[in-house]
Amino acid sequence: MLDGLDKDPIQAASKAELACEKLLFGLNKPYVIHGKDISISASIGVSMFSENSMVSDLLQQSDIAMYQAKDSGRNAIRFFDPKMQHAINERAKTEQLIKDGLSNKLFELHYQLQVNEHGDAIGAEALLRLKHPLQGYIPPMQYIPIAEETRLILHIGNFVLETACEQLKRWETNPATNTLTIAINVSPIEFNEDSFVSNVLTATARHDINPQLLKLELTETMMVDDIEGIIAKMNLLKANGVQFSMDNFGTGYSSLQYLRQLPLNQLKIDQSFVRDLEHDEQDRSIVQTIIVMGKALGLNVIAEGVENTQQQEMLLEFGCNNYQGYLFAKPMPIEEVEEKLNRLQ
Ligand code: C2E
Ligand code: MG
Repeated sequence: MLDGLDKDPIQAASKAELACEKLLFGLNKPYVIHGKDISISASIGVSMFSENSMVSDLLQQSDIAMYQAKDSGRNAIRFFDPKMQHAINERAKTEQLIKDGLSNKLFELHYQLQVNEHGDAIGAEALLRLKHPLQGYIPPMQYIPIAEETRLILHIGNFVLETACEQLKRWETNPATNTLTIAINVSPIEFNEDSFVSNVLTATARHDINPQLLKLELTETMMVDDIEGIIAKMNLLKANGVQFSMDNFGTGYSSLQYLRQLPLNQLKIDQSFVRDLEHDEQDRSIVQTIIVMGKALGLNVIAEGVENTQQQEMLLEFGCNNYQGYLFAKPMPIEEVEEKLNRLQ
């Protein structure tokens, strides 16, 4: 019996599966009996329980699941609940998709331009795309949570950092692009690694780029634990010129206490507040507050998800001069971004 796995049933099932895999791995090791190597396998049936579950039902369900595992060819793990089994299968597929993406170099960065009130490009956000040979581009939210759970995000993060640095280096030689920043999204799993600061600084040094043009987008959910440690890491990077933006601002804790302490350069107003800006009084108040607060703290403020001129005009009136959204540009492959930049010239 495994208890205290997770509040989320799918997460709990995933952890149960991991425990079963460890058991199978252990059982599969050869035993030496009277000088002979003996190998055995096992079939495991899993039934998830909650506070209201009956012991007799659980045993019966696990038993049924175990027979399903045997029927599927033995040495397997099966869940009693078909929904759970389906979810587990989907996760396994996604994990494989990420691994294939990494080994076959299917990950790409697309870039979404960020502009000022005159429509001039000031930078771009790098957004991850997985180019599947059959399914086309798969959006990041379909695999990032699993990449984080499996820690494969560390490999993805390295690819993102390397690619963004290479791009900044290429832009350096062109006067039309040599002041543009590139913002990359950083997962809490990456940021928490001891090697994160040195990874970033090594990459900027190796590519010989101006670190001030590299912006790291952090999220508020990162700021829950060890705020001192986070500040220390940010300060080390900032001392070397690297910039920081607080992504999806307003959707997390938005505590003034941490905001005051963090060495940020920018607040990014979350698109959920921009979406109904023209119609929703409350969203307008929130956006105005974020802009005033950002400015009072000496931070740049950028709005994301700007889709129409009405939204942009309102934002400008409230004092926000930087924008990102479909109104100006969609995330695009680098060739299209450069074409667009040439047209804007
Ligand atoms: P995010 O950082 O908040 O990125 C903004 C998302 O809004 C992007 O979705 C972008 O395509 C979309 N967007 C931009 N303009 C508009 C607009 O005008 N209207 C609407 N409705 N949407 C707009 P995308 O590319 O699907 O990325 C989703 C999320 O995946 C990102 O949210 C970010 O959290 C994560 N992500 C993307 N790339 C990376 C990466 O390289 N590393 C990590 N760790 N996370 C990433
Ligand atoms: Mg972002």
